[in-house]
Amino acid sequence: MRFTLALATTATLVSLTLVPTGATAQTRTAGPTATGFGGAISTVDATATAVGLDVLRRGGNAVDAAIAAAAALGVTEPFSAGIGGGGFFVYYDAKDKTVSTIDGRESGPATMTEDAFIDPADGLQYDFPEARVSGLSVGTPGTLATWEAAARKWGTRPLGSLLRPAADVADRGFTVDATFRQQVAENAAAFGQFDSTRELYLPGGAPPTVGTTLRNPDLADTYRLIAKRGTGVFYRGSIAADIVRTVQHPPVADDPTGTWTYPIRPGDLRRSDLAAYEVRYPEPTKSDYRGLTVYGMSTPSSGGTAVGEALNILEKTDLSKETTIQALHRYVESTALTFADRNRYVGAYTPQSVLDKLISDDWASQRACRIDPAKAMTKPVPPGDLTATGCTPASVGGPVEQGQSTTNLTVADRWGNVVEYTLTIEQTGGNAMVVPGRGFLLNNELTDFNFVPTQGTAPDPNLPGPNKRPRSSMSPTIVLKDGKPFLALGSPGGATIITTVLQVLINRIDLGMTLPEAMAAPRASQRNSAGIPSEAAFHARYGPGLEALGHTFAADVTELGAATAIEFTRHGGMIASAEPARRGGGSAAVVRPRY
Ligand code: GLU
Repeated sequence: MRFTLALATTATLVSLTLVPTGATAQTRTAGPTATGFGGAISTVDATATAVGLDVLRRGGNAVDAAIAAAAALGVTEPFSAGIGGGGFFVYYDAKDKTVSTIDGRESGPATMTEDAFIDPADGLQYDFPEARVSGLSVGTPGTLATWEAAARKWGTRPLGSLLRPAADVADRGFTVDATFRQQVAENAAAFGQFDSTRELYLPGGAPPTVGTTLRNPDLADTYRLIAKRGTGVFYRGSIAADIVRTVQHPPVADDPTGTWTYPIRPGDLRRSDLAAYEVRYPEPTKSDYRGLTVYGMSTPSSGGTAVGEALNILEKTDLSKETTIQALHRYVESTALTFADRNRYVGAYTPQSVLDKLISDDWASQRACRIDPAKAMTKPVPPGDLTATGCTPASVGGPVEQGQSTTNLTVADRWGNVVEYTLTIEQTGGNAMVVPGRGFLLNNELTDFNFVPTQGTAPDPNLPGPNKRPRSSMSPTIVLKDGKPFLALGSPGGATIITTVLQVLINRIDLGMTLPEAMAAPRASQRNSAGIPSEAAFHARYGPGLEALGHTFAADVTELGAATAIEFTRHGGMIASAEPARRGGGSAAVVRPRY
């Protein structure tokens, strides 16, 4: 029997046709926590969760479900994810007991130079909005190639069949909610510059009204075309031609809506760049933490090394025996040190020997010795000197990055395979250009490069270059205990991803919280700045204690991250966990619920 069910969620309210295995199981897909057996999924969006759950129920594995859910997110979370962007896919294979990764990061054009974001007219770097809303910011998208690679290597279904549920959602439409409307409203001026974007997301010249249905038939056709013809049509065929035309000749409206004060510059991405694109398969980063093994994403993401380095520093102290304030003091100090090192040393081409050093226990000792339990370090702290012995000496600090977009999903199947996947188009709304007739936004990932050198006289590892992939902070993480999955998690949030993943880990592992508690707890993100950006609840609860140690706080931020996670319990049990409130709350589900 088939039936239609309405699922409430953060970004959407949607009717989906599902094959039920029990009505109560369905209602669980709307909530942030689900406990049970037989497979689990957690995303930011009930539609995507329902699509992935359906694949699991029909016998698909975690990889199949992750791809189908990600494709659905391309429809319902189009400002954070989609085939115009890229991401990182981490996979635990239950049969081989191995963790593998796919680097589907966007790459710069072959013609990209170090001064790509310097205005030739005056020799100054472009303002961020000018660089973002341009063709200059667009890298070759890696998301579709990631799905194809994952489906071929580890999936059990053809990629085409995994795109069809998302195409159906795009055709039928979904109901606009407050988060979606707000994301459009915040981008209204940028979206209003392009015919293709405003036709889709500014119906009647304004953000769509909450409660209306938004359809994207162009994206449905795009997914179906790819399903029929394969990914070649995207990388070498008619879609590639349309992407390149959009980058080289941005589809600026004759009568733009809203005020945009910057020129809209073309980029130089070419068909040869798309045709040459390949995903990479880097070895995951690996570090031990209190008897657990933590696997993460290696370069071009800094996520794996940064999470690993901070955990190694924290491991020097038994946080469970410390007061909460002392544990949090060490947490923020460890991330300040880690960000200094990341900014100095980590980029797409960092030698493996340097990555290995940064994530080593010896290096953690050389960094942890700078932490004074009684007094906060002065920020920014300098990066460590990799050639030094003993406690690392001082030099100059580095800049602080912001960001709040992207999406993350976590999936496990009945066989014990696990997928942790973070995907993005960079800023919420990418570069603001919908490819005309294709229904998806392009990324602005190349603005993740540093526009100018940031490291004084030392080399900057994240300057633009030909075919180079910009440094990321995405941190899809899988933690094993005795060789078996214990926890998988990830989050959006630009550079705050690293601190969010870390904080959920220490909340769960050291501070005695359950996984849902660890996810809900208020967050802070010390990325080596004078003041700690934190959520108001964190500031209110822990501010006085941390200020007494000399920490200062930046202005509160509305929220940090929108994590998803799954914990693996005994006898095949799974706790799927999403945000209870951030970004409107996420959606977790299991195949066979246990109440
Ligand atoms: N572009 C960012 C990164 O790769 C992710 C975007 C975000 O989450 O804000 O780190």
